[in-house]
Amino acid sequence: LSSLDASSNAASNRDESPLEEDPQQDYSREDFPWSQKLRELAKKHFSISRFRNLQLLIMNAAKEGKRDIFVIMPTGGGKSLCYQLPALLDPGVTLVISPLVSLIRDQVYHLQEAGVGVGMIVGATSKEDANHVMDSMVGPAKAKKRAGASAESEENPIKLVYVTPEKIAKSKRFLSKLEQVYTAGRLSRIVIDECHCCSQLGHDFRYDYETPPLSLQFRPDYKTIFPNTPIIALTATCPPLVLQNVISILNLKSPHDPRNGTLVFTSPLHRPNLIYRVLPKPSSAPVLIQKIATWISRYYPAKSGIVYCLSKKDTQSVADGIAKESKGVIKSGVYHADLPEDQKERIHKLWRENRLHVIVATIAFGLGINHPDVRFVIHHSMSKSVEGYYQESGRAGRDGLLAECVLFFRDQDVHGMLNYAQDITTCRKILFERYFSKDGISQYTAPESAMNPVSLAQTCGRCDNCTRYDDGKTEAVVEDITVQALTLCRLLVALKEGEERVTMLKLIHYWKGLGQKKAPVEVLIRSGEVEVPVSKRFGVDELERIINYLILESYLEEDFHFTAYTTIAYITPGPKAKRFTNKRKEDIKQGDSSIKIQLPFLRIKEGGAKRDPITRPAKRRMSKDKADDAESATKKGKR
Ligand code: ADP
Ligand code: MG
Ligand code: ZN
Repeated sequence: LSSLDASSNAASNRDESPLEEDPQQDYSREDFPWSQKLRELAKKHFSISRFRNLQLLIMNAAKEGKRDIFVIMPTGGGKSLCYQLPALLDPGVTLVISPLVSLIRDQVYHLQEAGVGVGMIVGATSKEDANHVMDSMVGPAKAKKRAGASAESEENPIKLVYVTPEKIAKSKRFLSKLEQVYTAGRLSRIVIDECHCCSQLGHDFRYDYETPPLSLQFRPDYKTIFPNTPIIALTATCPPLVLQNVISILNLKSPHDPRNGTLVFTSPLHRPNLIYRVLPKPSSAPVLIQKIATWISRYYPAKSGIVYCLSKKDTQSVADGIAKESKGVIKSGVYHADLPEDQKERIHKLWRENRLHVIVATIAFGLGINHPDVRFVIHHSMSKSVEGYYQESGRAGRDGLLAECVLFFRDQDVHGMLNYAQDITTCRKILFERYFSKDGISQYTAPESAMNPVSLAQTCGRCDNCTRYDDGKTEAVVEDITVQALTLCRLLVALKEGEERVTMLKLIHYWKGLGQKKAPVEVLIRSGEVEVPVSKRFGVDELERIINYLILESYLEEDFHFTAYTTIAYITPGPKAKRFTNKRKEDIKQGDSSIKIQLPFLRIKEGGAKRDPITRPAKRRMSKDKADDAESATKKGKR
């Protein structure tokens, strides 16, 4: 999602065809024929006088209506407005396809409150109501006035119609009505909300577990049936593969086509008001819970927050722990998929009203969470993927004020996020940027979205890795671990030959020279070819870290064994181990530079006292002004 790349792409495109007029509109302009009306309607219906980041550009592009549009914006970012306001400006009707009935109800309710003419057709809609909505789509004159069905009237006709994908797929009548609407020139645009659901891939990368599986897959080919109706597809963070897949499933034009290709708008990945931290996760569950409770009590005693856990069982014990630790001051509630619907709704409502401070949840607490002043999101356990983590942690600070995202991490946790959590030196913002740009999403990013002025090389200045050394006592020391890597590879080869399988713990045991009874290892040790016991300069945590690093780098490998109760990971030599086992330790020690493995470690400078990792460095404040500046700088950045 690197917008920096996007802007340079745009620049080079221009260089290649200097004679051609730039086909890309400047969608940030405010002098379109509709500009003034757009502002008026925003104010009148939604009391909005300031558009967020990409909203104005998307709305202008939508109003222009020349191209299909793909919007990637985090949940709560304000995607709905991007099609709702253009819908109000158009003479016809906007069809919105959304996979979740509860989301549809929510939207319809809000639009009715805002005095917007809106209809919906879902499974539970009565035949009369459905007929009424369909008739009013074909032409407002035909629609008979019905009290209560919607907020529309003759002066306020239906402008948006929400349907589920199933409705379209199953109802021939609805589809033929749509064709009538289209022929009458009244189908302004088709909106496909949560469009990642179109893609099977979207489900593999699924963040929102409440999204019904594959529902959008049952759909007609809108582009073929309604060739002149533009499509707007919307989703939250969407990995490049899913994006490509959805574009092809919906039959949208390639974003590479400069004349009329799909415009892809991606909001800046980095949110300057979020402070990311990774804290060491104590191995004892009660100690961890106590740490979480202490952290909340210390920093955010009566503020809204979310604690994400992996299992339902954990949610309960964490909630109990918080109550106990805070002596009942911090009110928390649990939320997971197995709760009855009304219970879920009740908890969510209490939390929104700040009668519950903390929701302790599994990732079932996801879709539709849109609470602006969430001050912290704590991960008791690691997310399944970086996408998931970005999405879940991103529910913090929607109001633009400072918020914290804390991940409790232990090396043994899960593997997808090892790189993120293990990195103790690189700014977390940069880690996210690297991750999300690695599959080349930038090629799909339209120049319009080159909104992020913060360059890839710039650090955020606030995450744990940026502030780790602020106390002047901690330093990162890069250590050469080539000899350690050699030892591990040799040990593992020898153990493998001796047909002994080792877990992480056992391996460290051997490495520290404890209980080496096994013949192959003993021979190795006696020959001096391995460094056992390992030198004292590494603690057990650090030994684990070294092993994990070597796994990530393919020097070592994990071999998983599944039993009914647990999964055991044995460590074995990896594909790159060969490079080592035939090197001599002496050569390496004398600086054979063909292989050199280095890893930074945190060290306390002489005379410095060790800081409790849960204690944050001296507070750096970002005032609301600064947050505003960051936002307006973001706006300026596109020029
Ligand atoms: P999503 O991107 O998840 O679909 P929504 O469109 O539901 O997000 O918007 C989330 C919230 O943000 C809504 O309450 C909406 O009213 C609010 N919102 C959207 N745009 C603006 C804006 N420009 N200024 C203030 N609030 C806004
Ligand atoms: Mg939405
Ligand atoms: Zn940083």
